[in-house]
Amino acid sequence: MKLAALGEVMVELAPQAVSQGSGQKALLAQSYAGDTYNTAVYIARGGVDVSYVTLLGEDPYSEEVLTRLASEGIDTSAIARLPGRCPGLYMIQNTADGERYFTYWRGEAPARELFADPARREVLRDYLRKMDCLYLSGITLAIMNPEARAELLVFLKEYRANGGRVAFDSNYRPRLWASAEAARSVVAEFLQQADMALLTFEDEQALWGDELPDSCIKRNGDFGVAELVIKRGAEPVLLQYQGDLVSVEVPAVSSVVDTTGAGDSFNAGYLAARLQGASPEDAIAAGNRCAARVIGHRGAIIPRADYFATDASGAEAAC
Ligand code: ADP
Repeated sequence: MKLAALGEVMVELAPQAVSQGSGQKALLAQSYAGDTYNTAVYIARGGVDVSYVTLLGEDPYSEEVLTRLASEGIDTSAIARLPGRCPGLYMIQNTADGERYFTYWRGEAPARELFADPARREVLRDYLRKMDCLYLSGITLAIMNPEARAELLVFLKEYRANGGRVAFDSNYRPRLWASAEAARSVVAEFLQQADMALLTFEDEQALWGDELPDSCIKRNGDFGVAELVIKRGAEPVLLQYQGDLVSVEVPAVSSVVDTTGAGDSFNAGYLAARLQGASPEDAIAAGNRCAARVIGHRGAIIPRADYFATDASGAEAAC
């Protein structure tokens, strides 16, 4: 099984500590993150072959992204480089309970050219046809130009008709869209091409105005989503699959340090398990385990050593 994740990776600046004396200045740790990139990293750590598909510049930060992807065993052969461009940047702010706020500088990011250039698109289509599963998000769609997005939609239809599976997370970020209405119409089109929708209820509420999960379940049923997973933070995960609605408890996490990457890492645990033959219920448990590791650490990507460490009970901690 091989999965390709499509999207944007950014330079990440995450607060590490507050220095004494000179007011509230945070020390910042520099790393790399992006929703589909985070998921790709944790899927690879889960033992599934992954390719990351994006565009980068020819700057040192882009070089470092390639190095990091390679060090995770992720295939970078479909990544194009745009001279004179460099990746976007974002900063994380955390509240005392681990919630996070983001500020972005990403308007010029090369990933915005995804699927835009006809010659590169042709090469990419051939490459993606060889994948068993494609993973993309509402952020992937939000940063693409409308013509490129339309081309991707046409491609997904062909890809699925030939047996490929598509996994999608709406990851609604209002600032990336002209309006909620614009986001809804694009997301709706792509959900109709999703075999697996891994949605966060908070995002669904913001995007569609859902009060209860029922309306989210009904809507995605109407879109034809066969496998719907609804993440709700510490609340049980909901699964709508083969006519049944199942609620799966989220084990308590003793120290929630930073929820950055919670949903992304959940998706990774889920998809890695599903691609390795697990049932959706078992895949949710794997998603919860993966997210639990990540939210106990600052930043979206936790060091490999921490990730693969064994916990106090001696059990393998990796998802
Ligand atoms: P997102 O990061 O998209 O906002 P959620 O906040 O719904 O996603 O969290 C995704 C997953 O991360 C949850 O399904 C759960 O597995 C885990 N998670 C998030 N917050 C907590 C928490 N406070 N305690 C335990 N697990 C959590």
